[in-house]
Amino acid sequence: MPLVTHLGFPRIGARRELKKALESHWRGESDANQLLDTARQLRERHWALSVSAGADVVPCNDFSLYDHVLDTAVLFGAVPQRHRELFDADPLAGYFAMARGQRGEGAPRPALEMTKWFDTNYHYLVPELHAGQGFALHGEAPLDAWREAKALGYNARPVLLGPVSFLRLSKATDGSCPMDLLEALLPAYVDLLQRMAAAGVPWLQLDEPCLVTDLDDIDRAAYQRAYAVLGKTQRPNLLLATYFGGVSDVELLASLTVDGVHLDLCRAPKQLDAVLGAWPRDRVLSLGVVDGRNVWRSQPAQVLPRLRQAIERHGPKLWLAPSCSLLHVPIDAREETRLAPKLRSWLAFARQKIEELRHYAAALDGRPEALAALDAQQTLLDSRAQHPGVVDAKVRSRLAALSQQAGQRRSSYHARHHAQQRALNLPELPTTTIGSFPQTPELRRLRADHRAGRLSQADYERALEKDIEHVIRAQESIGLDVLVHGEPERNDMVEYFGEQLAGYAFTRLGWVQSYGSRCVKPPLIFGDVSRPAAMTVRWSRYAQSLTKRPVKGMLTGPVTMLQWSFVRDDLPRDQVCAQIALALRDEVHDLERAGIGVIQVDEPALREGLPLRRSEWDAYLDWAVQAFRVAVGGVADSTQIHSHMCYSEFNDIIGAVAAMDADVVSIEASRSHMELLEAFVDQHYPNAIGPGLYDIHSPHVPDTASVLALLDKALAVLDKRQLWVNPDCGLKTRQWSEVEPALRHMVAAARARRQASAHTDAA
Ligand code: GLN
Ligand code: ZN
Repeated sequence: MPLVTHLGFPRIGARRELKKALESHWRGESDANQLLDTARQLRERHWALSVSAGADVVPCNDFSLYDHVLDTAVLFGAVPQRHRELFDADPLAGYFAMARGQRGEGAPRPALEMTKWFDTNYHYLVPELHAGQGFALHGEAPLDAWREAKALGYNARPVLLGPVSFLRLSKATDGSCPMDLLEALLPAYVDLLQRMAAAGVPWLQLDEPCLVTDLDDIDRAAYQRAYAVLGKTQRPNLLLATYFGGVSDVELLASLTVDGVHLDLCRAPKQLDAVLGAWPRDRVLSLGVVDGRNVWRSQPAQVLPRLRQAIERHGPKLWLAPSCSLLHVPIDAREETRLAPKLRSWLAFARQKIEELRHYAAALDGRPEALAALDAQQTLLDSRAQHPGVVDAKVRSRLAALSQQAGQRRSSYHARHHAQQRALNLPELPTTTIGSFPQTPELRRLRADHRAGRLSQADYERALEKDIEHVIRAQESIGLDVLVHGEPERNDMVEYFGEQLAGYAFTRLGWVQSYGSRCVKPPLIFGDVSRPAAMTVRWSRYAQSLTKRPVKGMLTGPVTMLQWSFVRDDLPRDQVCAQIALALRDEVHDLERAGIGVIQVDEPALREGLPLRRSEWDAYLDWAVQAFRVAVGGVADSTQIHSHMCYSEFNDIIGAVAAMDADVVSIEASRSHMELLEAFVDQHYPNAIGPGLYDIHSPHVPDTASVLALLDKALAVLDKRQLWVNPDCGLKTRQWSEVEPALRHMVAAARARRQASAHTDAA
């Protein structure tokens, strides 16, 4: 029977125990021992859970107090200079300072940069390296973890990020190439491998997810060199784990001196054939057949034939595992007692995924009860195809009738611009914000009371209206040109819409780690998506009734709605996205009919949806852009469509942003000192742009001069008729005492440049 294992388990705990323990420790309410004790209990509980669900071997060292990439950097002694002193004096405090930054006495010590882990919503800390960097083992955490598991009676396999992926995910602060450090890094890995061999560790899992990305010659040489060195040292057996896609160079893979490889057969089922042709039969093949990135049960009708083929061609050295670490899914679907039983029966969280693997292993052994269970599972999943409330004939037929034309505006940008000028009569360098205003404790309490039934609908709506009125008056007094209602009714930009759309469901404990102690609870898209009733019109209309200035309607875009949810896996993503786009399109038209002449459709997640391989970018961008265009298509020329995207890397997607053809796009630019505008300049981006002139991620209130300095940088490269003046993101995380002066300074800066420009125009 194939061995059942997994590559890693969620760390945070079913009830976010780790989050609570971390935050209490950071507040100074619990000491290091209490924190470490909670962490130890979680590890023990998760090993026990894994084994009871059916795992033969459990991973260890997959746990982390904050992030596994940071752990790897610390393990090899890659601690940046600014954190060294604290780290040497108090390693745990130093570790958290690297993760979160450190204020207090003396100069502030900023955290390491944080960025997305491949195409997931998990964020890792980017190790900071520099030319000439040395590496040496600092402790032996992976081995300690193995000893801990062994002492508890578990058959465990330490997990560690492999050297090439580690360097690829790092950055060099001096502009050198991190891969140049491979020779310096390898002895530290060798040291660890030798210690593991001496201790009797049977297997080590080296994660090399970069093997599924596009590799250049430097990367290829690095893989060859690294595994030649690691291969010939005294060591445990090595399992090379790849995930999030297909191995891009199977020949390279087969040439590496390792004892097993793990493949992601959910993202890339087709790679199996090529790997079976190249992978020696005496080495382990670990097949990732249940999806570690989604919450749905696997389809036995697809998985079983794949497994039988593998057994037939590869023989007995097969392992079964989820496609990647279970870090990206919640822990136990049995807790979701509030979901409809039918929906719940389709779900597999971490525990259920391991149970499925156990069934597959038993079925391959010919066990009738396992075969029967898998048969039943397939029947259950097949029922999705007809289940009312899941399949909506109206949505399907609308989708089928969707033409290219639905994504067209009536006229070109140039003609629209004039129509909008006539309708809105905005000054040069118009000022606006991104949507949300501060989410005060009172607002949060209001929503919580309403949710819990302690506040009647009427009282709740009155309270929201009061808040909206306050937000409108504040903006008028600040002197902004295009106002917003402030989003007081929204807890989260995806959840708020998901709750009002058919086809979405919400879990009770479906938490996944986003970074450190921060978790998100992505909604489930389980059926065809449609909009039973208007979602935002009531609030936008009310806000507009209070003022003569235009109020901007505020929606979350289709790609972001898709990207930040667990999406049904038996429908193509582009189709689900198009369904959401159609629902949003109805909302856009309702807003327009209600007299809202400016509508913003936020797409902050557009870029993160980019596939890992360049060859797949165009296909994704095509449907992503088309979804946005469908959502806003068909409105009058005079209706001004805005979009907002907050990241500073536009080079890869600038063509797609242009193809979205929003009349105005606001982007994050303040932290990159307007450098990202280069992409827009180089591409002759034609429509209007609002580069963020005020960094809302910091509590610092910019003065007029610093806003002006950024505005002037933008004016130096872009036409003044093309520019808008706005902050770089929503204001919900800030306080009124910060927001009000900052926006006043922003408006003052715009006015100063308008005057200057009026003078030159007159002269
Ligand atoms: N309109 C949203 C807000 O202002 C946009 C949030 C975002 O960019 N993530 O809060
Ligand atoms: Zn933003």
